[in-house]
Order: sequence, then C-alpha cells, then structure tokens
Amino acid sequence: MGGLWHNQGHGTILVQLLVLCCAVGCRPSGPVDLPTSPLKCVQCQMTIVDQRFAAQVHTQKGRVLFFDSVECVRQYTVEHHDQIRRVYLRSFLNPPRWIDGTEAWVARWSGIRSPMGGNLAAFASEEEARAWLESMGAAAGDFAIQRWNELTSLN
Ligand SMILES: [Zn+2]
Repeated sequence: MGGLWHNQGHGTILVQLLVLCCAVGCRPSGPVDLPTSPLKCVQCQMTIVDQRFAAQVHTQKGRVLFFDSVECVRQYTVEHHDQIRRVYLRSFLNPPRWIDGTEAWVARWSGIRSPMGGNLAAFASEEEARAWLESMGAAAGDFAIQRWNELTSLN
C-alpha cells in the first residue's frame, strides 16, 4: 500500500479514491458518469449500448438508476413519480453531457432511431432540436418537440 503513494500518479489515485468514496457514500448532487461496465436499463433490462439515448434517475432515497432510452425513463418517471428526485437525460448531440430534466427538451422524429423504437432524443433547448431536425431534412409536420416535463405529465 505504501508504495502506491510514492509513484508518479499518486495525485490521480487520491482524486480517484475521493470520487469513488463520494459515489458510494453520499447522495450525488449532480449527474454521475455512466459506469464503464455493461449496464442494463432498469425499465426494459436491455443493455445500454448507444449512450446518446441514455438517462439516469436519482431517487428520493439516493439511488441512481440508469436507462437505455428516453422512452424507458419516461415510462419509469410516469410510474414512479413520487419516488424521483431528479432526472438527467443524455444530450443526443453532445453525449458526454447530461441535461437536467427540468431544462431538457425531447424531439420525436422518425429519423431518430432510438433503442425502444419511440424515436425520441433529448436536446438542451428547443432551438437546438429544431436546428438539428432541419439540418437533417425533417419536414415541419413530421416532428414534435416538447419539454421533458410536459412529456412526463401527459399520462
Ligand atoms: Zn430500456
């Protein structure tokens, strides 16, 4: 153990330990990274393959749940509304980024090949979604853009 702290990377190891302790011990205050090991969607049990569609839910009890698609996290949110503290959706155009559910917009378009076939993807703003859809040649009547909050309060 002692030798570990004397090599060149000791600063990095210390930071990693702190991050690990925090991930295990405290309630995360923001979105957490997707684990690098294969992970199943809480809702449909399918392995999360395409990170552009991933989502995470932070429960009132401090658990972090991962999902493979906007469709699945939407279903879970509708069914467990009172147990959810926060929702983060992966930015479709900028996948390392998580968008807070209170600020996220969701686009539905047949050209979006989402894992569960609902053609849904998350964007940081209505303008971002619209600009991307238009750049892809989506016709005005063929797509819909909604706030995440509206999408989950419909049924
Ligand atoms: Zn799923």
